[in-house]
Amino acid sequence: MIESRYDIVVLGAGESGVGAALLAQAMGLSVFVSDYGRIAPNYREELDRHAIRYEEGQHSEGVILQAGEIIKSPGIPNTAPIVCKLCAQGTSIVSEIEFAGRYTDAYMVCITGSNGKTTTTMWLYHTLRKAGLDVGLAGNVGYSLARQVAYDPHAYYVIELSSFQLDNMYDFRANVAILLNITPDHLDRYDHQFELYAEAKMRITQNQRSEDFFIYWEEDPFISKWLKEHGATACCLPFAMKQQSNQTTAWINNKNELVVTNLNSPFAMEEELLVLSGMHNRHNAMATSIAAKAMNIKNEVIREALQDFKNVPHRLEKIARVKGVDYINDSKATNVNSTWYALESVKTKVILILGGTDKGNDYTDIESLVLSKVDGLIFLGVDNTKLHKFFDGKIARIADARSMQEAVSLAYKMASKGDTVLLSPACASFDLFRNYEDRGDQFRHEVLNL
Ligand code: ADP
Repeated sequence: MIESRYDIVVLGAGESGVGAALLAQAMGLSVFVSDYGRIAPNYREELDRHAIRYEEGQHSEGVILQAGEIIKSPGIPNTAPIVCKLCAQGTSIVSEIEFAGRYTDAYMVCITGSNGKTTTTMWLYHTLRKAGLDVGLAGNVGYSLARQVAYDPHAYYVIELSSFQLDNMYDFRANVAILLNITPDHLDRYDHQFELYAEAKMRITQNQRSEDFFIYWEEDPFISKWLKEHGATACCLPFAMKQQSNQTTAWINNKNELVVTNLNSPFAMEEELLVLSGMHNRHNAMATSIAAKAMNIKNEVIREALQDFKNVPHRLEKIARVKGVDYINDSKATNVNSTWYALESVKTKVILILGGTDKGNDYTDIESLVLSKVDGLIFLGVDNTKLHKFFDGKIARIADARSMQEAVSLAYKMASKGDTVLLSPACASFDLFRNYEDRGDQFRHEVLNL
């Protein structure tokens, strides 16, 4: 029997939804979980164990529309019929992070951006742990914040936030907010309007106070324009490749050092010592160092963390060198901008594996890098028409592949000693693979088989 009115209804039973339900129950609220699809067996078992009521394969409107408040999982779009009905009647809809934030006084370090979120989140988490802080990892990576607040609380959290999570955040306050960049992505969820997506990203700084820190990329045109128009309440600590203003807190100086100023003792480190290569990783390293310094982490600890961090897989991950050719897995590059940065970071000639499910891509942004660096293109997708239309006639060697095995074997034939084979698809993976991890794992497997 389903009770008719719950304090909380959670829509979506993934890690964030189940975490939210556990926290709601631990706080003495009545809670019901509703998932339109199938719930993974481990989550079903967990809900059962905690005697939390749930349904799957449907959304029972009678129950959901009566809820005191809704916690919506980030994967559910605002255009879903049930969400439209809830909005129309004015029910409060919040994200799991917003909800969890009500039940903790922990120090919150939040990271968003179109690209580089996971890398920076993990890099900062690594740095803070090295410094001995009691820190949890949450958001898109690790366990949900709500679950940790309920059962494994920490004094600090490093939280990766997507625009979808930020959409339903209202009162949550980030003590440190990092905004890495804003380039078009996920526009299908924002009425195809870049401004709406960008506004969601800016919400990361919305409730900050003067004692909080806002770290952002000063050379990003949207962010700087927005700040000129709206100002910021937090202490602004921007980074840039070249010093832009008196405010610039981190940049690369003309001695090729990453420097951080404006925060107690100055920090400097030769950029060639950074463990991750490429311009984009300079950005991520600068954001990490500023945040760590703002949190009073010692220079020696930051210096060490910038050198011994091991990045998560599928992000410019070097798999092997075979007959003098490097094979790099950047399967996580699911938009054109991240492929731009991947190409930029490679110093040799490239055989590039590109393609998959198109998200409304415009390849103009990578055209000049492809023309100057790429010696062979392999299109790995079910429908490569758009890629052919754009690149045919511009690059001499182009081939189509329908499987990772075919793509890697074509790349192997095309590459010469000293080249790099780069999987950086600029597209989603769902046409041929389960997800980007599956795509990257298959790449690794095929390369190690060469
Ligand atoms: P996200 O979590 O935002 O998707 P990741 O850290 O997983 O970002 O990196 C995804 C891809 O984006 C990487 O493989 C790399 O090619 C690219 N990338 C990483 N950091 C940046 C950055 N600061 N700016 C632009 N591109 C980046």
